[in-house]
Amino acid sequence: MGTEVNRFAVVSISEKEYKPAIAYDCIYPMYSIDDTALMVKLPTYQTSYVSVDALNHVVETATCKAANPFSILLAQETARLVVKYLPQALTHPNDLMARYYLLYASLIIGGIAFDNSLLHFTYALEHPLSAVKPELSHGLGLGILLPAVVKQIYAATPEVLASIFSTIVPELKGVPSEAEKPYMLISTSRTINRINKNTII
Ligand SMILES: [Zn+2]
Repeated sequence: MGTEVNRFAVVSISEKEYKPAIAYDCIYPMYSIDDTALMVKLPTYQTSYVSVDALNHVVETATCKAANPFSILLAQETARLVVKYLPQALTHPNDLMARYYLLYASLIIGGIAFDNSLLHFTYALEHPLSAVKPELSHGLGLGILLPAVVKQIYAATPEVLASIFSTIVPELKGVPSEAEKPYMLISTSRTINRINKNTII
């Protein structure tokens, strides 16, 4: 997600059930063409998966040890855009404005946030899952893991996570004792519910 604008890639070595991430400056693309018109036929489940992938990127880039004010700012904006435009794109697949902002969230913001920070638990857990079970979409694997990871890390960065998820869980105050709230509410939120409904495996 956002690979078009960053120096990361993933390699699937199916015979070894191994799916490592690689990062080199030479991976930066010279050009990238992101055309919303090419995405209107993207199935609803894939639209959900890539959007959740973007959301996962920014949750981790804003809460890892390399997190910084820029990655946190991008995370807040990505979450806002995904929460606003994902339902719109799912109900109106031809809505180019919704597709545009999801593309913007995933490629520009998610990708750049990743490039200016790093990732942690959800990715470390998801890659082995989809390495062993290649038919598991990356974004779906992340969506399954995200609520539990947020619950585990919430107490360490409550203010940052509350600011990212405020559009999904408005009552968050950014205090460690509310770690259970985002877990319960994010896992039953409209975004995650839509993903589960569109699950194909
Ligand atoms: Zn990803």
